[in-house]
Amino acid sequence: MTKMIAVLPGDGIGPEIMAEAIKVLDTLKISFGLAVQLEEALIGGAAIDATGVPLPADTLALAKRADAVLLAAVGGPKWEPLDISIRPEKGLLGIRAGLGLFANLRPAILYPELADASTLKPEVVENLDLLIVRELTGDIYFGHPRGIHILASGEKQGINTMVYSESEIERIAKVAFEAAELRQGRLCSIDKANVLETTELWREVVTRVGKAYPKVTLTHLYVDNAAMQLVRYPKQFDVMVTTNLFGDILSDLASMLTGSIGMLPSASLDAQNKGMYEPIHGSAPDIAGQQVANPLAMILSVAMMLRYSLQRADLADSVEFAVRQVLRDGLRTKDIQGKGPYTVVSTREMGDAVVGVLRSKL
Ligand code: NAD
Repeated sequence: MTKMIAVLPGDGIGPEIMAEAIKVLDTLKISFGLAVQLEEALIGGAAIDATGVPLPADTLALAKRADAVLLAAVGGPKWEPLDISIRPEKGLLGIRAGLGLFANLRPAILYPELADASTLKPEVVENLDLLIVRELTGDIYFGHPRGIHILASGEKQGINTMVYSESEIERIAKVAFEAAELRQGRLCSIDKANVLETTELWREVVTRVGKAYPKVTLTHLYVDNAAMQLVRYPKQFDVMVTTNLFGDILSDLASMLTGSIGMLPSASLDAQNKGMYEPIHGSAPDIAGQQVANPLAMILSVAMMLRYSLQRADLADSVEFAVRQVLRDGLRTKDIQGKGPYTVVSTREMGDAVVGVLRSKL
């Protein structure tokens, strides 16, 4: 059955990198029998310019109808003077909430060909392949009470509330255990159970859920130690699962171990594995329109979509192979140029090269 994919290019480099992802999808359609139909819609600043709001009702309706959503990035200086409630980034939060995407999967993979792009020593990060599973719809970002109040003394006080219910912890734990089963079978749960009751409950529930996954070895770390271990010896981890707040911080830390923001995709999933797939980087307004952006994170987001929402792990493997091959062939966009004798290519040329490798496998 043909699957429908909502395509949301967004702002800045978004349309440039999305064009390369579409090229890859078209190749999979024409040459590899992938049955998909793409429908494009507006989000972010582009949507504000056309309709006055960052997430038009049509876009959310399309995303809800779709089998998967492919998003590039939103935002830029043009829309920064707007009120925070109608900025492009609100479109992103709105679509995540509207689709009930509670699980954020962020792989941090360092291809051996890019070992010199990391700020850490090559032996510490070479062949790094870890997956962070971050809870996305709970925690201190959404808990009440919240806000800034004025005390009787006249002093201001800021309040946010860290809150998790058992069911919220159970469903993210299941996603993490299932991901670990498909990988090396090791899951490390991150909390601050020594001082925060919310994460004491987190540890208790994750441990309970783990009983149903005997093939997965579960360990626990406090978040401060986890941050230290990620920099000291990141290859000790296979899958990490954590709360929204800790995941926000640790996943950025982990992505930078690879040194290349233009290389990393992410998936946000709902309870039925319907997902939104997007690069972890933003809209990079500083390089927009110049054909210098790296399209590989966007193309690897297509691979994640093939694996998690379209059940085509075979094609996901092919796309990931093609990305590795173009790096092995010495092609680099400017951001991953490194020190070697590489051929620096444009966004379009990088996309063409990936398609070329895919076609050569026919
Ligand atoms: P950014 O990720 O857009 O850019 C940070 C730096 O990385 C810039 O120097 C940029 O040129 C570079 N970079 C990013 N992606 C690249 C790529 N594919 N190839 C080569 N270089 C790349 O972060 P920022 O500058 O903090 O934010 C810019 C805008 O993006 C802001 O409006 C921000 O709100 C928005 N943003 C959106 C998302 C999203 O849509 N998911 C995420 C983060 C930031």
